[in-house]
Formats: sequence, structure tokens, C-alpha cells
Amino acid sequence: STGVVPAVVRALEHADAVRRLEVRANADTPEDARRARRFGAQGIGLCRTEHMFLGERRKLVEEMILARDGVERERALAALLPLQREDFTDILEAMDGLPVTIRLLDPPLHEFLPDRTELAVRVAAAEARGERPDPHEQALLEAVGRMHEENPMLGLRGVRLGLVIPGLVAMQVRAVAEAVVARTRAGGSPHAEIMVPLVGAVEELRIERAEVERVLAEVSEESGIAVRCPIGTMIELPRAALTAGRIAEEAEFFSFGTNDLTQTTWGFSRDDVEAEFFAAYLDKGVFLASPFETLDRDGVGRLVRIAVDEGRAARPGLTIGVCGEHGGDPDSVHFFHAAGLDYVSCSPFRVPVARLEAGRAALRGAEGSDSR
Ligand code: PEP
Ligand code: MG
Repeated sequence: STGVVPAVVRALEHADAVRRLEVRANADTPEDARRARRFGAQGIGLCRTEHMFLGERRKLVEEMILARDGVERERALAALLPLQREDFTDILEAMDGLPVTIRLLDPPLHEFLPDRTELAVRVAAAEARGERPDPHEQALLEAVGRMHEENPMLGLRGVRLGLVIPGLVAMQVRAVAEAVVARTRAGGSPHAEIMVPLVGAVEELRIERAEVERVLAEVSEESGIAVRCPIGTMIELPRAALTAGRIAEEAEFFSFGTNDLTQTTWGFSRDDVEAEFFAAYLDKGVFLASPFETLDRDGVGRLVRIAVDEGRAARPGLTIGVCGEHGGDPDSVHFFHAAGLDYVSCSPFRVPVARLEAGRAALRGAEGSDSR
């Protein structure tokens, strides 16, 4: 019993000595970042910024999205900027010296907007009582109606949101850049990377990248500190994988979002894996394991390999990782090693397992049994 912990420590040290895959963690709070570090993470592979827009900040996000004019929108963005700057400063401090991949906002809109039915019921109830409905609620109902989507997961998310809502990308990038400046002035060693989600076409990335570079240059000029953040993209749509050679022209790194890539390749909703039908379907023996847990090598894995080959052909030295749930799944880690990725990123608690499996994958590869 007393030997268990030292044995695990030795196994991890051994794995670290032989593995080729880096292991990062998905974290969006300083607490998670510190925990990840204790588990041996070599950076943050995915900081989901939408998690920083919940709670009390939800109102500001609502205002930003539903703004009737530029003045209203800018007011909301100006209120969000210092909050985001603080978020990023804290997380860069917790991960000082290691890379932190900050992903631009990627919420499915329905997670932020007020519920249309609830609003409609409130407005109708006021009318039924013969009262004048609250003009704010009425305006909100009207705006939510305009923004309504039948399939929000296939809608205004990721890069699309950044392209459609003026000022959003600039606000987030400014917050990152100012956090880098603050950490640099404090004597730290910040390594922020900016990641664009849900890209399907190089043109989207080209537009977004120009905006990111403009803001980085602006903050560098203002502060007198050269802020240099690698700019990369998620590969999480089949179209992105199939056009990875083009996309690599605008990306310094790729990170596979295998949650969305699985969802969009199979056409199964990732949000309904608990649904009765999905469990029943799993029982039919179509899958060996749920493709949302273990990477589906024939379909999703093939897209990953195409994107790795095309991406590296277009840009030798392109850094490539994965930050979907599969990044912490043992079987999938072996696949990512064999596919030639540079890192996996997973939840902090799965970091030790990913380290061990990355080590085993390297040993197995060295023994030559790792044919695919
Ligand atoms: C993914 O799609 O795999 C991913 C990492 O992004 P998210 O889960 O936030 O959509
Ligand atoms: Mg995703």
C-alpha cells in the first residue's frame, strides 16, 4: 500500500521521459489552471471564454448581442473589457511560462439569450391584465425573435458570431493583449495564443486574423510592449478538415475539436448522448464504443489524418493538437500519437492518464506494433 504512490509517480516520470505528445489541460479559471499544473499539464490547450460570460455577466452579453445600435453595443463591450482583462491576467499568471490557448467566444446563442417562450408569456400576461407590457421586455422579445434559430448548434456560433457582431473580437483580443502587457510588466512570462472556433473556410479565418493582428498591433503601440500571440484555429467541421491545406495558410496552429467534429461528421447531436434513443442505438452494435468517448477512427479519425497531412504540407512545422474530450481518452490518445499530433489537451483530472497513455503509445510505437 505504501508503495502505490511512489510506483505511480515512477510510472508518470517514466512516461514523461519517453512520450512525444505534450499534455495540456482544458481550463478556464485560475483554480483549474493551478490544479492542471499540479497534475503535470504543460499549458492550457483550451480556455473556453464563454464560461466567463455566465452568472452576473450574462446581462452584458445579452445587451451586446441584442443591442439595437452601435452605441448600446459599445457600452456593453466596454463594460466587458476590464472583466475579461482580469480573467486573462489571472489565468496567465496561474500558467506563467506555459502556453495558454485562449479561444474566442463560442457559445451556441440559445445558452445566452433569454427564453423566447417565457418572455412571450410574460408580455402576454401583462396584456391580459390590461397593463402596458414593459417596453424593455417587449423590445427583448422582438430582438430574441429576430435572432431565433431552430438549430443553434448549427448556427451563429464561433467565428460566425465574431464576424457578425461588430467589436466582439476586438474586445476579447484587446483583453488578451492587455493581460499580456500587465503580466509582462509584472515580470511574468505570459504565452497567450488566440484560437478561432468553428472555422469552415479559410476566408473566415483570414478576416478574423486581420482583426486580431490589428488589435495586437494597436495594444503593442499603446503600451510600448510588443505583444506576439500565435493565431490558430479549431478544426471541428468536416469542411475545415477537408480544406486544411488552405486553412493552414492563415493558421499557426490547429486544434481538433473532436466533440463538434464527431457531431458534425456523424450528424448525431452531442447534447443528446443521454437520450433514450442514443442508448438504445448504442446497443445495436453499430459502434464498438460511443464515438463521443472513443475516437471513431474510420470516419472522424480519417478527417484528422487528412487535416494533419494537408496542414503540414502547406505549413511545415504547424503545431497540431486536440482539445475535444477525446484528448483524455486512453484509446484515442494512442491514435493521436500515431497521427503525429504535437499535444493532447484534456480536463485537469485526466492529465495523469493522458501522460501515461502518451508514454505507452511512444513505447509501443518504438516496438513497431503501432501500424496506424
Ligand atoms: C470540441 O468541439 O471538441 C471542442 C473542444 O469545443 P467545445 O467542446 O467547446 O465545442
Ligand atoms: Mg467545439
